[in-house]
Amino acid sequence: MKQIKDVIKELLFPRRCPICDEVLPVLAVWETSRLICPACRRMVERVKIKEPVCKKCGKPIAEKRQEYCTDCERKKHEFVQGKTVFAYQDPMRESLYRFKYSNRREYADFYAEEALRHYEKWILYRKIQVIVPVPLHKSRMRRRGYNQAELFARALGERMGIPVRTDLLIREKNTVPQKELSETERKNNLKNAFKITENIVQLSYILLVDDIYTTGSTIDAATLALKRAGGTYIYFICISSGRGF
Ligand SMILES: [Zn+2]
Ligand SMILES: [Zn+2]
Repeated sequence: MKQIKDVIKELLFPRRCPICDEVLPVLAVWETSRLICPACRRMVERVKIKEPVCKKCGKPIAEKRQEYCTDCERKKHEFVQGKTVFAYQDPMRESLYRFKYSNRREYADFYAEEALRHYEKWILYRKIQVIVPVPLHKSRMRRRGYNQAELFARALGERMGIPVRTDLLIREKNTVPQKELSETERKNNLKNAFKITENIVQLSYILLVDDIYTTGSTIDAATLALKRAGGTYIYFICISSGRGF
């Protein structure tokens, strides 16, 4: 059951459906808020990432016997393993765009619920001690007003009772958007992009969180920074990813 303050919040800031972006009805205190409309729910099930997936990065693969996606087959990743929830295609692509650029911060709840529907056990068994969102550079953060990865991380942390740390990992270099670059350029672009603010030897199991997973170079760069500061087992979860074949 939600609290009166949640109902008031919903009345003041109506929640929108992450798929069609229509305002969702505000329900009574004893009813759980709807995070998506029923018709859109059906649509979203079709873009969920399903088995077989790459054992390393979680991207969908063509056949189960492959084990790894073409990308993970040819390069060694820094992280232990990762999971992603939705395929990066419409309507999710548009949903993520609004989440990132149009202030649809409430979508984070829906993404987190769906992530946990599939990966709550996976997270539990990893004995995660802390959730760390992939940070934005401070100038980008100032311009945009929020970090979408952090919203997703907080929604996950709240539900799982795992602390979220946003002060641990910082982005030192204001990198150019990765999608405009080749694989080698991506790596150079991210070289020393992340810095750790303190020694973290007491934190062995860390879950990195981001919105979109493509080649993994961002997650790898962030993982490397965490490992250098003492982190040992770095996992990740992303809302969406492309195909792995
Ligand atoms: Zn809808
Ligand atoms: Zn992979």
